[in-house]
Amino acid sequence: MKRIYCDYAATTPVDPRVFRAMRPYFDKKFGNAGSLHWFGQEASAAIFEARQKIAASLHCDYKEIIFTGSATEANNLALRGVFRAFDIGSRKSGDAIGKPRIIVSAIEHGSILETARDLRDSVEIVYIPVSSEGIVDVKKIQASLSEQTILVSIQYANNEIGTIQPIAEIARIVREYRARGGSDGYPLFHVDAVQAFQYLSCRVSDLGVDLLTLSAHKIYGPKGIGLLYARGLNVGSIIAPIVTGGEQERGMRAGTENVPFIVGFGHAVVITEAMRSKESKRVLRLRDYCWKILQRIIPGIALNGLSQSRLPNNLNVFIPGTTTHELITALDVSGVAVSPGSACQARIAQSSYVIEALGIPDRSTSSIRLTFGRATTRQDIDKVCRVLKNTINKIAH
Ligand code: PLP
Repeated sequence: MKRIYCDYAATTPVDPRVFRAMRPYFDKKFGNAGSLHWFGQEASAAIFEARQKIAASLHCDYKEIIFTGSATEANNLALRGVFRAFDIGSRKSGDAIGKPRIIVSAIEHGSILETARDLRDSVEIVYIPVSSEGIVDVKKIQASLSEQTILVSIQYANNEIGTIQPIAEIARIVREYRARGGSDGYPLFHVDAVQAFQYLSCRVSDLGVDLLTLSAHKIYGPKGIGLLYARGLNVGSIIAPIVTGGEQERGMRAGTENVPFIVGFGHAVVITEAMRSKESKRVLRLRDYCWKILQRIIPGIALNGLSQSRLPNNLNVFIPGTTTHELITALDVSGVAVSPGSACQARIAQSSYVIEALGIPDRSTSSIRLTFGRATTRQDIDKVCRVLKNTINKIAH
């Protein structure tokens, strides 16, 4: 049986070109980038090259990129690092502005929401609701800005329903507030662009953000490598490290650099950038084709989240009379891999907090996410639709 993978938002296969570029750095070019000898310098040069490639894509200085062990870690560094730098700064200056505030949306990835929750003894967390179509309430963000606000963190595109947030508009609001005299360089604006980068340009100068997170394994690079862009060459003024030890990553993230993965990340970024426009259009045609068929053959099916401002490869659908868990297992038996919304959630079979946040809780346990990618074909879509229809006929209550 040929299995069809429709879960590209969970992870992507490593592009063979990326893999080829990484390979020598496991055995032949194995030096520690911190070593002064030839082997070390060879590794260090490879990291430098990857950093420059990524900086060219993000339109930033290469020194503004901090490699981390995942996007989860980069998101932790954004939230905890900004809070720590603020805390250290206010202790030094003796200026107390009360409990600092961090603003996040209700549909952020778990790596933001759980980190925010963990900080709540020291930080006031404000959750911004989303519309029934999954778009954040920008007016509420504006109204929540205060002298205490140190950080606003909003994702570029949602991992479950693919909705795209108006990042440049939010950035402008945050910047204007800061210019009017928020508290000394605050609030900062962080964007989790993990899901967006595959399909949307993430030039930080155009977006106007201060911090931005990426992950390699969502863009056909290896798992276990992420990065945080942090604006300004004096990065210590906006974030403090959360992993301490050596002086790697300009003191912002200790630990021997993962050279092959960083090299792979650089290549994945360049390839994604080169393919972005054509691949977005191709996958959008497939997605729309799929949605047309599903609407015709499955009574009552509904799309979760806005149809326009949405990643081109994402279909998150409510299927009445089914449960997410049953659907996913039955589809898998027939060779079609889809997901409940997020891979993290799949293991514990809970309902989707993202769909609950849309104000349609009935749908949160009867929805599935299909995400397409570079290997998806029209024949795959035909088969997925057929299999889905048969599966529903078997399990619908
Ligand atoms: N942020 C978003 C929006 C994601 O979709 C993911 C991964 O699912 C992450 C962060 C975490 O990425 P990583 O797997 O690199 O920790």
